[in-house]
Amino acid sequence: MELITFPSNTVEIIDGIRNAIGRPVIFQVTVSGTVCSTCGINPVTGTALDPFCPTCSGYGYLYTYDFITISGHITWGYADLPKWITGGEYFKGDCVVQIKFSDEILSMLEKTKYVFVDEKKMRIERKTLRGVPKLNRILLDLMQED
Ligand SMILES: [Zn+2]
Repeated sequence: MELITFPSNTVEIIDGIRNAIGRPVIFQVTVSGTVCSTCGINPVTGTALDPFCPTCSGYGYLYTYDFITISGHITWGYADLPKWITGGEYFKGDCVVQIKFSDEILSMLEKTKYVFVDEKKMRIERKTLRGVPKLNRILLDLMQED
């Protein structure tokens, strides 16, 4: 049986590859949310008092967003995918984006509303953490919003 050893600089190598082929991926991240001051929230249903409110568009809350750009490896559609599919896994979205793993990025993803890839608005369908011997990248399956 062949012994597999991993180079200790795996993260740097992958970062190097990603920087060479990576493109900007923009994350729309919720920074804060406040109750709409024009209509407000129904305390029973938790929905906007005015579903046609021009201020909050009927959401009842006003959100503040940040837009954060991260370099990622972008794969669109099925044609490109076999490279990334191993061990019987399958793809759930329209696009897969591979980005660097970090605790900061992981917590940013928790607050991400939309992801913009090649000027298309996407939402995150699935997150997969990858890396051997330790986590060093995140795969995001993205679905296009209509
Ligand atoms: Zn409102």
